[in-house]
Amino acid sequence: MSEIGQNISEVLQSLPKEVRLVAVSKYHPAEDIKEAYECGHRIFGESHEQELIKKVDLLPKDIVWHFIGHLQTNKVKYIAPFISMIEAVDTFKLLKEINRQAEKCGRTIDVLLELHIAEEATKYGFSLDACREMLEMGEWKELAYVRICGLMMMASFTDDEEQIRKEFTIASNFFDEIKEKYFADAPYFKERSWGMSDDYMIATQCNSTIVRVGTRIFGKRNY
Ligand SMILES: *Cc1c(COP(=O)(O)O)cnc(C)c1O
Repeated sequence: MSEIGQNISEVLQSLPKEVRLVAVSKYHPAEDIKEAYECGHRIFGESHEQELIKKVDLLPKDIVWHFIGHLQTNKVKYIAPFISMIEAVDTFKLLKEINRQAEKCGRTIDVLLELHIAEEATKYGFSLDACREMLEMGEWKELAYVRICGLMMMASFTDDEEQIRKEFTIASNFFDEIKEKYFADAPYFKERSWGMSDDYMIATQCNSTIVRVGTRIFGKRNY
């Protein structure tokens, strides 16, 4: 098996079997994705819309693409026709635009709401209060072409395992809170996307259902 395939199978073996692996291929060439594909992997994550579109053209059509980066509203239209999940919805404005473009394409797009829990000021995402407020407003219920499937977040960039665990736990508790309040009757609201190369084992202990792993599979990125 290729090295990439080997890495994927090691990561998969270390994950509880109900957790899904998004192989984060940003900045890695389409050939690397092809290699993973040939080993049977189908779910890939990209964070730049232009890079994603180029790769979509080159690669098999049954790949399940997750958009995991910050998405500008004026870029939604380029990925709306094919994207399986937009993981990092961080404003209501973006959610509305995804709904608008999904309707144009005659499809429904699955999304996750991105939370900002980490201590870094640079990360995108709703604060817990901003997220509560957005959900409480209720306007999102009228968006028939998006399906809010859960939450996504990134932990702080730190070696402090307890800090990381604390942040994942906050996210998990918040998931329970809003599941009960707004999505109790929505079986599709079930995803908790947290965990990357350095912290996915902690994430799965904190109820993650999706992990997004890049470096551990494809090696270092050349920016
Ligand atoms: C790049 C990226 C990842 C993967 O990070 P690694 O440390 O390489 O596993 C996961 N999630 C998001 C949102 C990313 O941008």
